[in-house]
Amino acid sequence: MIMSSSVITLSESAMRRNWQFMKSYFGEEINISAVVKGNAYGHGIAEYVPLLEGCGVNHFSVYSSGEAYEVHRVADPDNSTIMIMGAMGAPDIVWAVEEGVEFFVFDMHRLTAAIAAAVMCGKKAIIHIEAETGMYRTGFDDKQIPALIKVMKENADHIVFKGLCMHFAGAESISNHLRLKQQQSAFKKIHKRFIAASMEPEYVHTCCSAAAIRFPEMRYNMLRIGILQYGFWPSQEIMVEYINKKQKGAPSILRPDSLERVIRWESTIMSVKSVPAGAFVGYGYSYLAQHDMQIAIVPVGYGYGFSRSLSNTGYLLIHGYRVPVIGIVNMNCLAVDISKVDGVAIGDEVVLIGQQGDMEISVASFGEMTNLLNYELLTRLPSHIPRMVERV
Ligand SMILES: *Cc1c(COP(=O)(O)O)cnc(C)c1O
Repeated sequence: MIMSSSVITLSESAMRRNWQFMKSYFGEEINISAVVKGNAYGHGIAEYVPLLEGCGVNHFSVYSSGEAYEVHRVADPDNSTIMIMGAMGAPDIVWAVEEGVEFFVFDMHRLTAAIAAAVMCGKKAIIHIEAETGMYRTGFDDKQIPALIKVMKENADHIVFKGLCMHFAGAESISNHLRLKQQQSAFKKIHKRFIAASMEPEYVHTCCSAAAIRFPEMRYNMLRIGILQYGFWPSQEIMVEYINKKQKGAPSILRPDSLERVIRWESTIMSVKSVPAGAFVGYGYSYLAQHDMQIAIVPVGYGYGFSRSLSNTGYLLIHGYRVPVIGIVNMNCLAVDISKVDGVAIGDEVVLIGQQGDMEISVASFGEMTNLLNYELLTRLPSHIPRMVERV
């Protein structure tokens, strides 16, 4: 086996716990689509999707058709549903119709293509109509709805109106409150237009993780959950909101730390060396040794998912200690200060995300910044790092 410089491990028990938590919190009757875009938030579609299926999850949302192909390759063709929320090339629309892959329709261009593909395949396109409610990314705005309904009715033989949906413009932050409230009213208005035209979608879905916690009345019968299932809160604010709601008599389930991180990322020490006081470590002059020190070189760099922005700021775990990254993160390696840790040797375990002894590095603290960075740092983990599954 060729050695990789780092390894990602997924915890099946943590994943089960997160789904159990979400089901008990949101209610068994609500369908939850597992959002697995961005290579399952860096966890790896090929390993993560089958793991989810083993846990009874059978609805997967991705952003692009490329990601849909990846899920399709590993998912159970008979029992699992794939939903594409964004980008698709023209041939992908034909493929999706052929394979029963569902997709968002957010403009007339996409609707026309869906109908054409359905005619060509002799099969109905299964579509989710996305409403523009004020995010101004994608979606039909209120003025377009009557014309849209007309085309949908004329083509009822070619489409299945599976869902009506929208996306919130930043549900994780209270500072967006007014805009989010306006989006809710805008969505309700559009939803009513469909009902008035006797057009009832099978599913109505508006909520990502943060919105699902923040706006219970917007849950309808389906949620699109990304970050929560991987064991992270969308933001500190949402975690506090969850805890507050629980104290006000909302269903009390498990603990505030109901979520468990699924991912672990580790590497090993490649080299250890002494640096004399007054020397500069790594490229340029960004780190000056103030005293004689011991450093370790870890073969993980920005080309392997460890952001360059963590130069001189990130932390790793070695022998159960938090050790600081010193100097600039290179493409393929980085240096840490191990002066305070005794007996560090080549081959010793280094934890980049996860627990070691009593210490833990969550993704946010690996950046020591906001939780919003979780999304970015996770999805940046390259697909070439081997993923292993820790089964219970
Ligand atoms: C990414 C995404 C989600 C999931 O967001 P989380 O905050 O990770 O739960 C839901 N809906 C859409 C349209 C998305 O793009």
